[in-house]
Order: sequence, then structure tokens, then C-alpha cells
Amino acid sequence: MNGDQIFNSINNIQISIKNHKDEIEKLDQEIGDGDHIFNILRGLDEILNLKEELMDKPIDHIFKQLGMKIMTTVGGSSGALFATLLMGMSKKYNSDLNALHNLSEMFFEGVQSMKKRGKADVGEKTMLDVLIPVSKSLIELQNETDFEKVANNINNVAKDGMLSTKDIIATKGRASFLGERAKGHIDPGARSSQLAIEAICNQFINK
Ligand code: ADP
Ligand code: MG
Repeated sequence: MNGDQIFNSINNIQISIKNHKDEIEKLDQEIGDGDHIFNILRGLDEILNLKEELMDKPIDHIFKQLGMKIMTTVGGSSGALFATLLMGMSKKYNSDLNALHNLSEMFFEGVQSMKKRGKADVGEKTMLDVLIPVSKSLIELQNETDFEKVANNINNVAKDGMLSTKDIIATKGRASFLGERAKGHIDPGARSSQLAIEAICNQFINK
């Protein structure tokens, strides 16, 4: 793992989110207040601006700075939650581990921090319905040497998690005010998180 790879991944996430801009905007208009796409794009712009400054810095420093930038510039629940994810990840960086082992430990820690911050868990119709299962699967797969297999596996877990938000009611966030009316709509944060994970996984899949 190095700075170049981190910023390359963020760049790929930005491309995918921009390609699905209208879809994500619509999802948050249906069960939220419509600002989710704006918050995500703002965050991605802000952290990509740090590329020159951070590229050659230690990995834990990069993640911490990215998190702090999002915390101070991005609004909404998603701003605070993604900032918490990145700062949580920075705490677990261990240069003695190989890349996949390191990433899985870091991501698991980051998602645990998000759970605490959002006081939420699986089944509440949020981005955590994608991120928690992905973090658990990464731990299970951390000794795998076939990265393409890991990427395909994680892509499927993220997709299943995203789709699982469709037919349940929300018990956290703005969508919880809608009760039964939230059913039939995918959670916007689950969709943007799944797209971000897919953008990273696709870097390891030869198409
Ligand atoms: P806001 O809801 O403040 O307008 P966004 O629109 O940017 O913020 O983000 C909405 C997304 O945040 C939701 O789709 C959901 O995935 C996620 N979310 C909201 N509340 C929580 C929570 N307590 N825990 C985890 N995720 C949450
Ligand atoms: Mg919103």
C-alpha cells in the first residue's frame, strides 16, 4: 500500500460516483433530503486536492488527514461517518503486515468506529448494511493470495448488502421518519458505499 495507490483508488471512486450521480441523487430525494450526492462529491473533491501534499507521507498519516479534511468540509450524516471511517482506519495501520492483511484490519477497525459513531448496526437501512458485511468478509479472506478472487467475493457481498436495504424500514437517519414508506427504496448511502467498494475491487479484476 502506498500513497499513489490510495489516491488512484479515490480517483476511481470519483469516476464511478459521477457516473451514477443522478441515480444517487434520486435515492436520497426519495427517502432523505437529496443532498447525499452533493456531500459525497464534495468530500471526494476535497480529499483529491490533498494528493500532492500527502502522496509521499506515511499511510496512517494520509488516512488521518483525509478523515480530518472530510470532517471539517463535508456536511450530513455521511460526512461525519466517512470521516470516522478513515480516521479509524489510520489507527490500525501496521507496516509489518502484507497489503491485504493490513487493509482488512484497518477497514474492520474503521467500520467499528462508524458503528459506534452512528449507533447503528446491520439491518437499519444504512451504508452499514454494505460496510459491516464487507469488513467481516475481508477479515475472513485476509490470507487469500488470489486478489481477483477476493475482489469478486467482496463485490458480491457489497452488492447483496446494498440490495438488502431495499425492502426494510429504516431505524436510523432521515429515512427512519418515513416508517413503512421507506420500503421499496434502496438506501442512498448503501448504494454510494457499494459503488466505492466496487471501484476499488475492479482494480484487481482483469476484464
Ligand atoms: P443526511 O442524512 O444528514 O442528509 P447524507 O444524505 O449525506 O446525510 O447521508 C445519508 C446516508 O447516511 C443514509 O443513506 C445512510 O446510509 C447514512 N446514515 C444516516 N444515519 C446513519 C447512522 N446513524 N449510521 C450509519 N449510517 C447512517
Ligand atoms: Mg441527505
